[in-house]
Amino acid sequence: MSDQNEKLHEPRINWINLRGLIFLHSISAVAIWYLATGRAHWATITLTIVWYWFTGLSITAGYHRAFSHRAYDIAAPLRWFFLLFGAGALQTSVLQWSVDHRNHHHFSDTKDDPYSVREGFWWAHIGWILRNRHGYEEPSLNNVQDLVAMPGVRFQHKHYDALGAIFAFAIPTALATLWGDPWGGVLVAGGLRTLALLHATWCVNSVAHWFGERPYSKVLSARNSFITALITGGEGYHNFHHRFPSDYRNAVRWYQYDPTKWFIWTMKVTGLAHDLKSASSEQIRAAQKEQDAALTAT
Ligand SMILES: [Zn+2]
Ligand SMILES: [Zn+2]
Repeated sequence: MSDQNEKLHEPRINWINLRGLIFLHSISAVAIWYLATGRAHWATITLTIVWYWFTGLSITAGYHRAFSHRAYDIAAPLRWFFLLFGAGALQTSVLQWSVDHRNHHHFSDTKDDPYSVREGFWWAHIGWILRNRHGYEEPSLNNVQDLVAMPGVRFQHKHYDALGAIFAFAIPTALATLWGDPWGGVLVAGGLRTLALLHATWCVNSVAHWFGERPYSKVLSARNSFITALITGGEGYHNFHHRFPSDYRNAVRWYQYDPTKWFIWTMKVTGLAHDLKSASSEQIRAAQKEQDAALTAT
């Protein structure tokens, strides 16, 4: 690798993200005190749970499975739901998120994977957010040109900061003001909910590449774990996902916990999602057999 390329990969502190995360962790600590001392209205707690799932599904079913992997097609109302509530998750625009995630799969377990677990658990979880590896401000959108062409996607990218502030903080605070709990809105439904979802999402990059089983490919660092699935809204069957990334499911068994898959299936019933892609049972069985054979050979 040339000196110049080495420079592009040189980690430098991303001060915007560092300041933002210190701020989020601080107001979340205050939010926990606010909850523990019984100051939050029950309606604010309900709002927090609803907002967690709206923004969470916009990441798992939206940013991840619909946009990054194109595992199924979405109708306009669902696309806008994902774009607006996805901004409220404060995990960057869908374009930036998908650039990173497509690189994560394409360069899986190499140094070009932006959040490779080979650089360490901490790096995969949060370190990569605090460092700016690329050395440039604007990401290359070469690998997401299909998404750029989708209505609403460029709009969300351009106005991400304003949409993020509105959907992460302004709307929950305005709603909680209706029942006289604006502080609960900003601290609990805004700050703590955002931070909890960020850590849940990061667990897919750290915990899901660290703990669990590898029934579909032993070459991959990605692993299957029910515990990780519980934390991440069903994204914990990560070995399957890396083996079959275009599949709209992460859990293939009916008894496995994958609420994101159930949500997508419900959207199909309502007509808002269609052309759900899935690997055939023969392909899945063949992948498992391959692993069993490799194990016996060693
Ligand atoms: Zn992964
Ligand atoms: Zn993925």
